[in-house]
Amino acid sequence: MEVQKVWDDSYKMLIGGKFVDASDGKTIKSYCPADGELLASFPEATKEDVDTAVKAAWKAFESWKNVSAAERQDILMKIADAIDANKQKLAMIETMDNGKPIRESMGDIMLGADHFRYFAGVVRSEEDQASIINDPGSGNNLSIILREPIGVVGQIIPWNFPFLMAAWKLAPVIAAGCCTVIKPSNYTSLSLLELAKLIAPIVPPGVINIVTGRGSTTGQYLLDHPDFRKLAFTGSTEVGYSVSEAATKKLIPATLELGGKSANIFFSDCNWRKAIDGAEMGILYNQGQVCCAGSRIFVQEDIYDKFVAELVEAFKKVKVGLPWEHDTQMGSQVSQEQLDKILSYVEIGKKEGAKVAVGGERNTEGPLAKGFFMKPTLLIDVDNKMRVAQEEIFGPVACVIKFKNEEDAIAMANDTQYGLAGAVWTQDINRAIRVARGIEAGKVWVNQYNNLPAGTPFGGYKKSGIGRETHKMIIDEYSEIKNIFISLDENPTGLY
Ligand code: NAP
Ligand code: MG
Repeated sequence: MEVQKVWDDSYKMLIGGKFVDASDGKTIKSYCPADGELLASFPEATKEDVDTAVKAAWKAFESWKNVSAAERQDILMKIADAIDANKQKLAMIETMDNGKPIRESMGDIMLGADHFRYFAGVVRSEEDQASIINDPGSGNNLSIILREPIGVVGQIIPWNFPFLMAAWKLAPVIAAGCCTVIKPSNYTSLSLLELAKLIAPIVPPGVINIVTGRGSTTGQYLLDHPDFRKLAFTGSTEVGYSVSEAATKKLIPATLELGGKSANIFFSDCNWRKAIDGAEMGILYNQGQVCCAGSRIFVQEDIYDKFVAELVEAFKKVKVGLPWEHDTQMGSQVSQEQLDKILSYVEIGKKEGAKVAVGGERNTEGPLAKGFFMKPTLLIDVDNKMRVAQEEIFGPVACVIKFKNEEDAIAMANDTQYGLAGAVWTQDINRAIRVARGIEAGKVWVNQYNNLPAGTPFGGYKKSGIGRETHKMIIDEYSEIKNIFISLDENPTGLY
């Protein structure tokens, strides 16, 4: 497939319904990680720009908070339709900016559109509650429980799924009747800026404000701004702490989707045909730059040797290639920085006594020399206590660890600071459920991996975060609850 130059040379931010540059005119450049080509420039928002966006959001909120559920549903549906109509273009931009294979970008865009449709459905099923409270102490009353939008929220998203993470954040905001100021990662801002052009004619001005810039500058201005009612963040656990502290200082809630070191557990009775593919899916999808990646592969001892041998062969066959080619299975890591971090972990693993069974190095074959390509990598002879088994590598590098029995597998799976996801592969239904229940993580797959449709809650235990997205329950996090309590008694209390 040819690269189609479908993106603009320069982008503007969306603030108060207008497309604007940074107030000081500063810009950042975005490059394609697969070939180093300059793609586009976009603004680096100043403190003043963030403040303008927050003010625009509050201004919009005055009327937006009263917009009917039917209208919000209609807006969500229109956004989904606009994404569908532009999916080829959005997917190409995502692939060029992030380095992920085009087949995955297309999946992300379609999943993103579906996310808006899911919340369009959720909106119309919203019902407030009323009940009669009648007891000797409080008398005869009608209690009405209303959900109201929390107000203006600040949202920060990462570079690994730029478009999908934006969809995960924006759809519930619109569904709940909130307004937002959202910042993408400066490594991958283009797909959201392209989406801005699609949503500007659909969403009232100021409801969605998109500011771009670096985390250390623009991101920090968001965290420091006093006028948010809630923060929502997806990214590293390290920055998650800063977001949490910023929220605490303002006494506002924060939902956090953070890092992981998930266990992908294979029992000897697993369906072999699905298993090897499942291990690959867990660690190679999106070049392993997945928060819920199955980066610790636990294999039962009696199948261990066969499993490793087949997985090594499978890793060798993976087509690492230019991300815009249709047959590419693994593309480029997002940046030099990320590639260096991954390679440094391979070295750490070797020093700790792990062996590289396959991969372990950069891929510089032919045209790949210009990008940040990595070979699919397996580390064996790994102990779960090693740094490579405890720290997030965020690349196509999995540790393979042998286990004896169920108890052993669950204990090691839980011996981590994280708790985002995990999977169990077995054909014994009781074992599947026992192990799934035993794992301290927000998502446990059985006989599959990395499947995240809307309607299935996603989020972490432990240091992997707070809150659940991709399910209607996230609406609560963007809401305040009001109780209107009405006396139905004709007489005074009689106490005075
Ligand atoms: P990151 O460094 O934490 O960045 C995430 C976002 O925060 C980016 O927009 C970044 O901006 C911004 N940021 C960085 N420093 C900031 C600061 N001091 N104040 C405010 N904002 C700041 O994470 P990353 O390296 O981009 O992404 C990888 C991490 O995200 C991994 O740990 C992964 O597990 C996690 N993740 C989790 C989920 C989930 O749903 N649980 C999903 C995806 C990723 P810039 O990039 O522009 O500097
Ligand atoms: Mg970063």
